[in-house]
Amino acid sequence: MDKGTFIVVSAPSGAGKSSICQRFLQAYPEIKFSVSYTTRLPRPGEVNGKDYFFISREEFQDRRQKGDFAEWTENYGNLYGTSIRTMKEFLAKGTTILLDIEPRGAKKIKQNFRGGAFVFVLPPSREELLKRLEGRGHEASDSIRARYAQAESELQEISWYDYVIFNDDLDTAVNQLISIYIAQRCKRSALKAKIKQFMNKPFSKNSLVK
Ligand code: 5GP
Repeated sequence: MDKGTFIVVSAPSGAGKSSICQRFLQAYPEIKFSVSYTTRLPRPGEVNGKDYFFISREEFQDRRQKGDFAEWTENYGNLYGTSIRTMKEFLAKGTTILLDIEPRGAKKIKQNFRGGAFVFVLPPSREELLKRLEGRGHEASDSIRARYAQAESELQEISWYDYVIFNDDLDTAVNQLISIYIAQRCKRSALKAKIKQFMNKPFSKNSLVK
């Protein structure tokens, strides 16, 4: 059986990445979302085990030391990590995995796992990004400034991603991600076992067309 593949999606905050990922997963239930571990508190509506595994800092550090994470990072004072077990188990089963992680972690995945498609989502324009980062204006200017700085440094990482989706229109953006997934499944490297099986059945004399 062929191994599974994975798609990593990153974006500066406010690009609409979560909506694209949600719609994509709804359209393809066979794709598994890599549920990360985090020390941040759940937001309203978030479900433990579905959006994240919400754990304490102590548990996170313990897991990190045991080598449970394929990558991990600190973001705005919270720790986030991708389960190495999820990655390995699903890949071995031939499943496609979707990872919604920021660029530093994505780079580590690129270094440590072969294959995979790395997708960067951008909002329609820089002006639009600024507007979205500013939010509804309830926040202190310091935290908005911190978001600008983080977005700017994340944008610099676009250079090594394989694909870019400009999120002008949600339907189009979702279709673009679906196209990337389909292309990924058609890669020769993703079909090695199937091709081998095909090639191992030589034509017999009886199969000559008259
Ligand atoms: P949020 O707290 O808004 O859910 O996520 C903040 C950022 O952390 C997002 O960019 C998200 O993609 C990223 N993130 C979520 N899980 C992980 C993870 O396991 N590893 C890394 N490196 N980033 C993650």
